[in-house]
Amino acid sequence: MDLGFTAEEEAFRQEVRTWLDLNLPAEWRHRGVGGYREDDDTDLQRQWQRRLHDGGWLKLAWPREAGGRTATPVMQAIYQEEMAKSGAPIILGRLGVSLLAPTLLVHGSQWQKDAYLDKILGGELVFCQGFSEPDAGSDLAGLRTRAEKRDGGWAITGQKTWSSGAHYADKSFLLARTDQQAEAHHGIGFFLVDMHQPGVEVRRIRQMTGGGEFCEIFLSGAEVDEKDMIGEPGAGWKIAMTVFGFERGGLAQAARFERAVEQLAGLARERGAGADASVRQQVAQAQIEAHVFRLIGLRNLTKAQHGQAPGADASLTKLYWSEMDKRIQETAVGVEGPYGALAPDSPFALEDGRWQYGWMWAQAETIYAGSSEIQRNIIAERVLGLPRGR
Ligand SMILES: Cc1cc2nc3c(=O)[nH]c(=O)nc-3n(C[C@H](O)[C@H](O)[C@H](O)COP(=O)(O)OP(=O)(O)OC[C@H]3O[C@@H](n4cnc5c(N)ncnc54)[C@H](O)[C@@H]3O)c2cc1C
Repeated sequence: MDLGFTAEEEAFRQEVRTWLDLNLPAEWRHRGVGGYREDDDTDLQRQWQRRLHDGGWLKLAWPREAGGRTATPVMQAIYQEEMAKSGAPIILGRLGVSLLAPTLLVHGSQWQKDAYLDKILGGELVFCQGFSEPDAGSDLAGLRTRAEKRDGGWAITGQKTWSSGAHYADKSFLLARTDQQAEAHHGIGFFLVDMHQPGVEVRRIRQMTGGGEFCEIFLSGAEVDEKDMIGEPGAGWKIAMTVFGFERGGLAQAARFERAVEQLAGLARERGAGADASVRQQVAQAQIEAHVFRLIGLRNLTKAQHGQAPGADASLTKLYWSEMDKRIQETAVGVEGPYGALAPDSPFALEDGRWQYGWMWAQAETIYAGSSEIQRNIIAERVLGLPRGR
């Protein structure tokens, strides 16, 4: 097995680095530990998105006829890895760019593509995701928000929850039941809902990090034009599966964790905790796990290069990195000793509270994009061939 990159791929890596040197100011290079801060500067995130779009990077994987570069999976991974290494900020419209836009390329009508794609990439239209409901998370097919047919469109009524960034979103891509009588996975529609209308109310949920990035969305007869339904009225589930297919981690994640482990080792040295054998072992374990994660990423990449779909491997990957990150963050706050118990914004917090913040954020990582229990169920059934539970 060859784990190296070709000369062409290395040249592409250099192209990304050169562009970053010219376009990513030093003060925009964030810390890169513990995800992101929800209340980070949204203007900066919007500006950064605009720069990436102008540079053509947000269409890297798109086909040439849609203005992209048809980048191979390896090129995409190199791009993501260099972004992560540079500490580049996240982009404001990340859900629209990474989930909705590629889904529209597959399922959208020509009108929808023309109306939305450029605006999504350029940050003019920011989307949030309205899938989860108070009683429909892991069991998403249990969703109850309903869409009723009206002249020329639909009226949507119900409640969504945990919607990231809904408080600044212009639109939501949202699932709602179009047929109450149909079986759970059928009779669901996929809609693009204007968030700035009287039938939509957004309430932020205060989190233990101090942020309020996740929101509840209350819909009372929210109006959606016919043109803003993707696919047929009962095709929502299939389209949602396409969305989930774009929700994957890769080499960029590996770079993030390697960086976190390096910083963890630095913290342990600085705090004099390296004298403790159990801390040394935890840091060494973190280093080994981060390296294994890189190898998993390379294996997945090899499969992708050969045109193989990720399948249940995606569950192994998600389970591995999210549980690993929890251990890394746990070790770090332990190394900080009593300082680890301070709130991230405490004036006495070490390193600007980033490790406490990272620890809190890591708790969410084993929940979103499929919880650890759900991933284990998938691995048990599809990888290990165990019988399906009730
Ligand atoms: C950071 C973050 C961002 C999010 N952003 C969005 C967003 O933008 N839009 C959106 O729509 N949603 C979003 N979500 C919601 C996310 O998709 C749900 O939290 C997730 O699907 C789990 O659903 P739930 O919270 O309802 O938990 P539940 O599904 O109620 O699960 C509760 C517990 O039961 C376990 N469990 C459930 N079913 C099974 C089973 N069959 N076997 C074993 N154990 C089981 C779960 O693992 C979990 O531990 C976000 C969540 C987080 C944490």
